[in-house]
Amino acid sequence: MTPTPRIVVVGGGLAGLTAAFRLSLASSENEKTAVSQVVLVEASDRIGGKLCTERSSGFVIEGGADSWVPRTGEVESLAEELGLAHQITPAVECSVRAYRRDNRGFVPFLAEGGSPVGRPSSLLSNPALSLLGRARVRLEPLIPRRLKGEDESVKSFIQRRLGGRAYREVYEPLLGGIFGGDPGELSAQATLAPLVQVEADGGSLIRGGGAQENDKGTARPPILTFSEGMSSLAEALRGSLGVNDVQTSTRAKRIFRDSGQWVVRMDTGVEERCDVVVMATSACAVRDMLSELTDVQQSVPEVPSARTTVVNLAYPNSAVSRPLDAHGYLNGRGIGNGVSACTWSSAKFRYRAPPNQVLLRCFIRVAPAADKEGRPENPEEAVALARDELAGSLAITKAPIQTWVHSWSVPVYRVGHAQRISDLRARLTELPGLHLAGSAYDGASIEAVIRSGMRAATAVHNSDILQETL
Ligand SMILES: Cc1cc2nc3c(=O)[nH]c(=O)nc-3n(C[C@H](O)[C@H](O)[C@H](O)COP(=O)(O)OP(=O)(O)OC[C@H]3O[C@@H](n4cnc5c(N)ncnc54)[C@H](O)[C@@H]3O)c2cc1C
Repeated sequence: MTPTPRIVVVGGGLAGLTAAFRLSLASSENEKTAVSQVVLVEASDRIGGKLCTERSSGFVIEGGADSWVPRTGEVESLAEELGLAHQITPAVECSVRAYRRDNRGFVPFLAEGGSPVGRPSSLLSNPALSLLGRARVRLEPLIPRRLKGEDESVKSFIQRRLGGRAYREVYEPLLGGIFGGDPGELSAQATLAPLVQVEADGGSLIRGGGAQENDKGTARPPILTFSEGMSSLAEALRGSLGVNDVQTSTRAKRIFRDSGQWVVRMDTGVEERCDVVVMATSACAVRDMLSELTDVQQSVPEVPSARTTVVNLAYPNSAVSRPLDAHGYLNGRGIGNGVSACTWSSAKFRYRAPPNQVLLRCFIRVAPAADKEGRPENPEEAVALARDELAGSLAITKAPIQTWVHSWSVPVYRVGHAQRISDLRARLTELPGLHLAGSAYDGASIEAVIRSGMRAATAVHNSDILQETL
């Protein structure tokens, strides 16, 4: 009898869960792999990674991602397959989606016309951009395209094409909020790929070429979430796998070759021998795990990470005197005591807080020290920063009813990232049975991460390795 092909997925965030789901689904549907066995190991005591919803006392609290912007449809398709489509719900429509907070107070920032990240032409009607800034943006079609195809920073790309004011007044606060890290170091190719492509094709970002925000051509694409929180997706993926196929509180420590097989050694000392490993963790964790394969380890780039701490705070309605008439605000340059943005969660989504209460969440970039698992060593310090912010921005002086603190490392795609990942993938083709997935490589949005999990699963299926084993 031929041995059963065994697949180990390391990391139970969205990427690892998606890969495991796809691989186990294909196992039951496809004769070729009908006998393969998939095991997922997750270091922490819960699955989902940065999909982390807490449901408590009528609140739906998002510790990590709270929504997605549907561009390519991966989340909706996956939800459909998992029987979760009924939970998809749009964010509340507000005439102003977000404010920028500066010395003058709140300035409408993301309003009609969509996001300047997907649609730079919206800058011309963006109230947060000064008249001089708009005049410079109008000159953009005259700016010659860059001849060399080398990567550059997001800051350099935006300043060169759209001007310094558009960068400072609009993109800097926005990109600082979306991507970890300093836009002066972030890769334009990896984070603003559609816009970089428009320039490479000789187009203008504001003459419609940058209207990539959604395929239907409407100015403002919806923002979607799951009514019971983003963890619903992770829970449904988990539910689709066998009970014994997911091992939480199990950290993979080393991955190496032995007698023609991969061996995944856990921190408990237990070893899983397998034919395929899908590594769905940060690049830093991958480098650690591959320390016995030094030449492979060296081809995994050091993707640095930025720390973000999320503080959710619940208040009675009466604590907030200002109407919460947007999804929240971003702090402009020099504003905020380490807090970069605040989402007005109970205004952004329905049923996030009980009646007569509000839920706000602050993002702290200057994160308090954290332990190895990412929990802030001093959550009180994070709460104090958030309360200080809300006193300054919304004049909230009352103590919150309840607070929740979560802390994360998010990958920072530095200039040259796409090339380094392409080199890594080329190297991995020489190592049958070793695959990568996750936000460290080809995009950190929920859609991109699902794509990366699917891609890893497809690569496993298309490889000869399962056929050879069978
Ligand atoms: C605060 C915040 C808000 C966000 N908001 C949005 C949003 O609104 N929309 C959007 O599209 N995206 C958002 N994102 C991005 C998105 O949530 C993430 O990019 C995505 O969830 C990452 O999934 P992942 O599987 O790649 O990584 P992770 O979720 O980090 O999962 C990796 C898993 O691997 C485990 N692990 C690590 N090392 C080991 C090991 N050695 N052995 C076993 N397991 C290991 C970890 O414990 C973790 O569970 C947000 C991210 C954050 C942090």
